[in-house]
Amino acid sequence: MEIKKRKSKIIKIGNCLFGGANPVAIQSMTKTKTSDLAHTIRQINMLEAAGCQIVRLAIKDPLDAAALKKIKSRVKLPLVADIHFDYRLAIAAIENGADKIRLNPGNIDNPAQIRAVVDALKAAKIPLRIGLNSGSVKDLGSRKSSMTDKLVASCLDYIGRIEKLKFTNLVISLKANNVLDTVEAYRKVAKACSYPLHLGVTACGSAYKGIIKSSIALGTLLLEGIGDTIRVSLTEDPVEEVRAARGILESLGLAHPGVQVISCPTCGRCELNLVSIVKDLESILAAKTYRQFYPPLRVAVMGCVVNGPGEAREADLGIAFGRNSGILFSRGKMISKVSAGDCVQALLRQINSRRKHGPANVKR
Ligand code: SF4
Repeated sequence: MEIKKRKSKIIKIGNCLFGGANPVAIQSMTKTKTSDLAHTIRQINMLEAAGCQIVRLAIKDPLDAAALKKIKSRVKLPLVADIHFDYRLAIAAIENGADKIRLNPGNIDNPAQIRAVVDALKAAKIPLRIGLNSGSVKDLGSRKSSMTDKLVASCLDYIGRIEKLKFTNLVISLKANNVLDTVEAYRKVAKACSYPLHLGVTACGSAYKGIIKSSIALGTLLLEGIGDTIRVSLTEDPVEEVRAARGILESLGLAHPGVQVISCPTCGRCELNLVSIVKDLESILAAKTYRQFYPPLRVAVMGCVVNGPGEAREADLGIAFGRNSGILFSRGKMISKVSAGDCVQALLRQINSRRKHGPANVKR
């Protein structure tokens, strides 16, 4: 099955192009006080190492806005300034080098203030995200409107106001806190405009529930070709947001797969601690060098001889375990016997021996 991407306008944020036929980009947000330079820069660098491509920072006061200049000089990721309530913080963030501004129509509504921000965006030649959230959306219609209708009406109204100022360097998001409203709102806006869409479910909880909600909502929309950037919002370390976003894109074939592990769930036939072997292997393979690995490799790690040899033969590399040792397969052929203690290193040696120069567009 091939996903047919919605035709959307191409937008540039720093060095990241998205929209149009560009790959879906992964975003996250720092959880530090932005003016705490050491912790903010450290977190941005950790996000980049995990595969994040665009990072948003909360700009709560003039100190945060001023901090952007120093942060920008010390990180590679494009910076999005997240602005609420005070339009002057948007202007200060632009002056300090923000690569994109996010405004919330629910709390920045004054026409003169919007015009002042748009003038600054035009001068800096950077885009604006119109970012609606169900928690702060204004009701432009009847009080009985559904949450989806409120989000869509408010979004289209704000787009129209910005377009009247002759500014179209826009990205749109309308995040609800549940799957159904989120999917419906994005579907409607995807039909109503051609601006790129940043997808997310807002306030969706801790890692366990949040990843499930986001996977369903974002997965549904991405399968329909809707979505140009994504964030998995979690009450968690933001690195987990990036790992989850990457997992969603990989599952849909929308990210370079790098080295993928196929492992069985284990059962009473398994005679060793396969869970810890797979965790060790996956934590090593999460590094950038294996995410960008070329050619893509499938590595099977199987707990016993029932399905193990079959899966291990199907994959590029595989191990089918017996009691405390396993048979290593390479492209379907048995190549050696390895102990449980040596198996992760044995697999890594095999993986590394297959690295080739990949096409220039393998970026993640
Ligand atoms: S491969 Fe073996 S250990 Fe793993 S789930 Fe299947 S039967 Fe159980």
